[in-house]
Amino acid sequence: TEQTRDWLQSYTDDWVSFYRKHTSDGEVASYIPELLKADPDALGITVIGKNGMTLRSGDVNTTFTLQSISKVISFVVACMERGVAYMLDRVDVEPAGEAFNSIMHLEMKQLKKPFNPLINAGAITVTSILEGRTSDEKLEPMFELLEDMLGHRPELDVDVYESERDSSMRNRAIGYYLLETGFLESDMSVTLETYFKQCSIDVSIDDLARIGMILANDGRDPETGEEIIPRQIARITKALMLTCGMYDASGKFATYVGIPAKSGVSGGIIAAVPPRVRDEELPFLSGCGIGVYGPSLDDKGNSIAGIRLLRHIANQWDLSIF
Ligand code: GLN
Repeated sequence: TEQTRDWLQSYTDDWVSFYRKHTSDGEVASYIPELLKADPDALGITVIGKNGMTLRSGDVNTTFTLQSISKVISFVVACMERGVAYMLDRVDVEPAGEAFNSIMHLEMKQLKKPFNPLINAGAITVTSILEGRTSDEKLEPMFELLEDMLGHRPELDVDVYESERDSSMRNRAIGYYLLETGFLESDMSVTLETYFKQCSIDVSIDDLARIGMILANDGRDPETGEEIIPRQIARITKALMLTCGMYDASGKFATYVGIPAKSGVSGGIIAAVPPRVRDEELPFLSGCGIGVYGPSLDDKGNSIAGIRLLRHIANQWDLSIF
């Protein structure tokens, strides 16, 4: 009801102001120079629930780049193009327990495939598998999927793309390792160019909340009933988000928050809250999607205030899937 929504809204407003103070415990990502332009004190959240009912609080109008959240999109598209079996033959589904841009595991003897599609090595492999010879051809289906989910076509932030491209030594090193081990399925420089571009797609927290909501509902848009992502792919993607979505803090996130989620170094987080049987109390939140933005990051590269805010509301509103 309207009353519940108002109550949830004022509750959210209070806790966004509270956790905004926590942004000073972290730092904005600096290894991609352009990201440093973000306002370190920004914090915002959008929740889109049943019947499109929406809560929005804090810095809701800022746009920012997808960064690692794009790994979810490229993985979904690759599964839609090539089939799940083909993809799971080429990237594993195990948490790596290393930083998102770790090279270490690629040096492991007899590594059969990168650990998972949500860390850089796995994501770059996934991007190499996408159909298309040029970066534009590889990107187009990602833009189309985003457009299907969001109702509008997002744009590329060219400044962020160029900044990442020109400061990408580590990702290039990963690219060379993947080339050497034979994991890449298309040209390395086209793959990296595509990867930097997918990371540089501009979104808002409303966009993130919509993506989260569609994943939460097993790939369907709950408003129209239309299937945008096949159910099996949506489920695997959520399993990966839960186990690997917050890099090497995924175990803690699963324990303390308990929602499939994916973060990016620009400070965005998507979270997908699947509908459950025990949702009578706050039915509005059953199957909701959450988008968070807070560019000040913790040492793992996750939004510091964003995670604390999510943890708080997840506990308060009983959102854990466990
Ligand atoms: N574009 C970033 C990178 O590859 C994405 C990483 C992230 O968001 N954690 O370094």
